[in-house]
Amino acid sequence: MGQRAGLQTTLDRAADGGRLTPEEALELYRSAPLHALGAAADAARRRRYAGIDHIATYIIERNINYTNACVTACKFCAFYAPPKSEKVWTRDLDDILRRCAETVELGGTQIMFQGGHHPDYGVEYYERHFRAIKEAFPQLVIHSLGASEVDHMARISGVSAEEAISRIHAAGLDSFAGAGAELLPARPRQAIAPLKESGERWLEIMETAHRLGVESTSTMLMGTGETNAERIEHLRMIRDSQDRTGGFRAFIPYLYQPQNNHLKGRTQATIFEYLRMIAIARLFLDNVAHIQGSWLTTGKEAGQLSLHYGADDLGSVMLEENVVSSAGAKHRSNRLELLHLIRAAGRVPAQRATTYEHLVVHDDPANDPVDDRVVSHLSSTAIEGGTAHPELTVLNS
Ligand code: SF4
Repeated sequence: MGQRAGLQTTLDRAADGGRLTPEEALELYRSAPLHALGAAADAARRRRYAGIDHIATYIIERNINYTNACVTACKFCAFYAPPKSEKVWTRDLDDILRRCAETVELGGTQIMFQGGHHPDYGVEYYERHFRAIKEAFPQLVIHSLGASEVDHMARISGVSAEEAISRIHAAGLDSFAGAGAELLPARPRQAIAPLKESGERWLEIMETAHRLGVESTSTMLMGTGETNAERIEHLRMIRDSQDRTGGFRAFIPYLYQPQNNHLKGRTQATIFEYLRMIAIARLFLDNVAHIQGSWLTTGKEAGQLSLHYGADDLGSVMLEENVVSSAGAKHRSNRLELLHLIRAAGRVPAQRATTYEHLVVHDDPANDPVDDRVVSHLSSTAIEGGTAHPELTVLNS
């Protein structure tokens, strides 16, 4: 059998639900023809979602950044400021609650609470804020933070990661967003985030969370100089972890953004590499239900294409975002455009909950929601023309 026929045999087996070895995944990732790889991934998606495979989901959420002060200084990050820098800002609780109120008014269902590793913010800080958000807005799901923040806050408060997770969960955290995974293998992680916990520690904390009943998503930052083998090793680490706990709801690869950070954009992943990753993730991560396409860091056309390469979800109308926007992610959209993008890609759009249930299936364009205030990625601190900190309001009052 020639190499091409051998690759197709492996693709067919994976599309039918057969488990790929990491070696097979690497060979497919490197060498399978792009369209054949995408077709196999799309077949795997259709098999998993038989009966609802015509649907692609999105969510409405807001990323609330509570501070940019951070002691961890990741080299790819354009968001943070060293804690003693004059560029440091923090948001007070009233400001955070106002942002939650706007989210509710615009039909958002989820808050991502995301910020730097502030040297003074221990478990108590997060308990106080999550409790206040849940008291004021019990309908908002707090899908926030990740293992890196847990590791940091536990150290500040002198408690175990398990205690930190239990306490912030009791205070209102519903699930972990899973940022901070970056690259899990040691070499690329050390190269771009030398002060972050190891990849093994990141997974250990996530597994602790899963065992405590706090599920999460998982992510991967592509394009900072990692090799193909390291990308597949990242997937292997997530799949093995998922075999142990089953707590990862989704996998979300996204692209490194080149502006305003120490890496200076010397390395970047291409859209083809990204689409191949979406496809190989769908085939290799046979134990992770959802694969999310990212149009913010890849562009709208790549987002549409991802729906044909194994993705079942197209991310969010994120009412506010400052982290990847600081590094140059400038793709903006609004709810109606997102519905159009999904339809133009041949799917029926559905607004989803954090746990992926369909809240509204937009099967008739005549009934599309018309609120033109539901726009994505307004940026309070990151982009020119963004409303300057701290007065960002997405609603005209
Ligand atoms: S990515 Fe997060 S932990 Fe790293 S420097 Fe930026 S804010 Fe800090």
